[in-house]
Amino acid sequence: MEQIYTIPINEAFEKSMEDGGCPFCEIKRVFEENELSLILGASMMEPDVRIKTNELGFCERHYGMMLGAGKKLPLALMLESHLNEISENMSVSKILPSKSAKRTDSALGALGKSCYICERLDRNMDIVMNNSSSLFGADADFRRKCSKQPHFCIPHYAGFLRAGRENLKGSDFSDFYRCISDIENKYVARLKENVSRFVKKFDYRYEDMPWEDAKDAVEKAIAALCGSDSLNS
Ligand SMILES: [Zn+2]
Ligand SMILES: [Zn+2]
Repeated sequence: MEQIYTIPINEAFEKSMEDGGCPFCEIKRVFEENELSLILGASMMEPDVRIKTNELGFCERHYGMMLGAGKKLPLALMLESHLNEISENMSVSKILPSKSAKRTDSALGALGKSCYICERLDRNMDIVMNNSSSLFGADADFRRKCSKQPHFCIPHYAGFLRAGRENLKGSDFSDFYRCISDIENKYVARLKENVSRFVKKFDYRYEDMPWEDAKDAVEKAIAALCGSDSLNS
């Protein structure tokens, strides 16, 4: 197991035991903050980072976050060379126009779907998932923390389960699966119950029924499905 991330994993699992929420969303939120300050700081000027951002660009969410950070100069420098590369890829050959159209198509077609920050986050979250499932097998204290989680958002539950299938064997895997599926099945049952209660409240026959936890059922169900437990804060 790669040792990196063991400390942030333990910290996030402890935090969610107290505050609620998905521990992996919390880890991702911290990674995202780090990536943003890196890209708007020192790493923006590094040639190998610039090659990557020229090629991949950013998604709308991350352009938005960079704009919101209020540091427009590093953003403008990155955009300057990104647009340069795009315009090079758009140059039209007089002799072989179909060849240049093909090059433009493949260079620009990928742009809307790629993001430098998302790519790095995905790679780091894969490592986090693998390390977390290995920790479950190796560390009784982490196993206890895992069993006390309030829930995982649905995409992170799927990722954690996949990592567990790859990294754990025999009784370690059965214990892991029992632990996380028990948490998640109760969570999804609660989400379903609250959304149904929300729907019923629009029926005059249920007018007097108490809301209980259903007032924000729609927001909570969407956050669970999108893996955005901490992204709205
Ligand atoms: Zn999550
Ligand atoms: Zn992105």
